[in-house]
Amino acid sequence: MRIQADTGRCVGAGMCALTAPDLFDQSDEQGTVVLLDPEPPAGGRDSAREAVERCPSGALTLAE
Ligand code: SF4
Repeated sequence: MRIQADTGRCVGAGMCALTAPDLFDQSDEQGTVVLLDPEPPAGGRDSAREAVERCPSGALTLAE
């Protein structure tokens, strides 16, 4: 599994960081997504999928 984050589409809603804080953070300046771990371990894959589904701007994509 590989996560991609498009900071140009990100609106800084923060759902990803709330849902999966091990995988996502937000930048201090603009609040846009910071991808901490683009290839989550097996234990983080469910939360990665959940975070991608909850992103309101479609900024996150997953390649399984
Ligand atoms: S949930 Fe989507 S829009 Fe919100 S910070 Fe994360 S990537 Fe950006």
